[in-house]
Amino acid sequence: MKRKIVKCPYCGAHAALRSATVVHGDRAKDGEHLWICSRYPACDSYVSVHKRNNEPLGSLANKALRRKRIDAHRVFNQLSDSGMMNRGQSYKWLQAKFALNSRQAHIGKFSEYMCDEVIAACSEVLYNNPSFRAARDTKRKPNAVGYVLGGRATERSECPSLRGRSKVEFVRTRGVK
Ligand SMILES: [Zn+2]
Repeated sequence: MKRKIVKCPYCGAHAALRSATVVHGDRAKDGEHLWICSRYPACDSYVSVHKRNNEPLGSLANKALRRKRIDAHRVFNQLSDSGMMNRGQSYKWLQAKFALNSRQAHIGKFSEYMCDEVIAACSEVLYNNPSFRAARDTKRKPNAVGYVLGGRATERSECPSLRGRSKVEFVRTRGVK
């Protein structure tokens, strides 16, 4: 059987399948594994795995990209969590929106730029959809912009700095560095 070769996209070194305790210490889940750059921690780059077969769940990512992918997942998951689409439909939407096939349309494979694009596109759909706004108001779920602003879940449904500006426009402006 051919041995899987995974390389770090930042430094070019090989990555190895190792216990998640290497990165997370005691906080690692039992039996959890990661593909980690062999130069870790000098090169802070790793990716989580499919539990089924230990294949990498995308490309290795540094801290900034890991953070971005988490934010993109949170906003993207709102499409199905809000009841607007089911899970399958939300992935079909992602494929159609960015002209990707089913193998490519995974946030774990996306760059920071693509994560920003996903966040902007999802935010636009969410804010244009009355059922999402209704669900957000009744369940007091953290909203998409809240995720983007804080980088993590927040209970705030409005942000003072957004006053007088469209929320989607704000997300877009932030996306461009
Ligand atoms: Zn590396």
